[in-house]
Amino acid sequence: MATNKNERSIWLNGEIVPLSEARINILSPTSQFGANVFEGIRCYWNDEKKQLYAFRLFEHYKRLKNSIKMFRLEDKYSLDDFTTALMDVIHANEYKEDIAVRQTVFVDGFGNWSSRGPVGMFVAPIPKGRTIPTDKKGLRCCVSSWERISDRNMSPKVKVGANYINSRMAQLEALENGYDSAIFMNNEGKIAEGPGSCFFIIRDGKLITPPCSASVLESITRDTIIHLAQEVLNIETIQRDIDRTELYICDEAFLCGSAVEVVPVINIDGYDIYSDHEDSTLTSKIQTVYLDTVYGKLQSYEKWLTPIY
Ligand code: PMP
Repeated sequence: MATNKNERSIWLNGEIVPLSEARINILSPTSQFGANVFEGIRCYWNDEKKQLYAFRLFEHYKRLKNSIKMFRLEDKYSLDDFTTALMDVIHANEYKEDIAVRQTVFVDGFGNWSSRGPVGMFVAPIPKGRTIPTDKKGLRCCVSSWERISDRNMSPKVKVGANYINSRMAQLEALENGYDSAIFMNNEGKIAEGPGSCFFIIRDGKLITPPCSASVLESITRDTIIHLAQEVLNIETIQRDIDRTELYICDEAFLCGSAVEVVPVINIDGYDIYSDHEDSTLTSKIQTVYLDTVYGKLQSYEKWLTPIY
């Protein structure tokens, strides 16, 4: 198993190479203009079953295909190509721990920002545990002064590298001002999502999250949580616009995504949401069910898991 970063193997354009030898042309449109689409895929190690499970792989690849289509990239890779590359590179690294896989299709060559190809792909698995430090109860967030990109300029629905400049502005502004993260409003002045995560509030025992048309990524974790809340916890999710001031009076709030999983938000703009992240909160119940699902502990959701070994 590759523990040293530089000994890690990367899948690049059909070959498995050490990270230190994985090179991309610096004049390529991906390097200069962020001309790439990607997925961040989580794989979870179940020690009891001695199995590594990729979570909702098909949905990630469906979205990657959508990103390729929308971005008018050369459509070179099939769903099977995506899967084989991921399997091969994880096998090469022999990972038996939780990992995050960055799978990126990029515009290579010497073209410009409007080039459709030639496209290349890399698949990079990276060991990754829980995102939030265990001594933290949750995140202190601000509503960003930056607006979320809208469908009239850059589609928030897909994962295009260049979209993340918008996220970067919000996240770095939040950190500069002493917060942990930010929550975007969209161009209608309604709540959208976090810089790299979707957003839910809880009021009167119900989950509320902005609709997919509110300038949010078509998030796989968002969809997972809506299913699990209803089917396992019997909690309804309402998809509707959320006003900024509703954040200050909600009962609970959390961010979610493949990388951050489910993270409580404990304060927004200086307003305490809940002072203690106790075990009895709905957020912590959702967190537990989510983690049980991704590790393969809930039989009825094994359909979302792809065994790697
Ligand atoms: N919104 C944004 C802007 C993101 O970058 C992410 C992370 N991919 C998410 C939401 C969560 O998406 P997913 O659940 O598919 O990881």
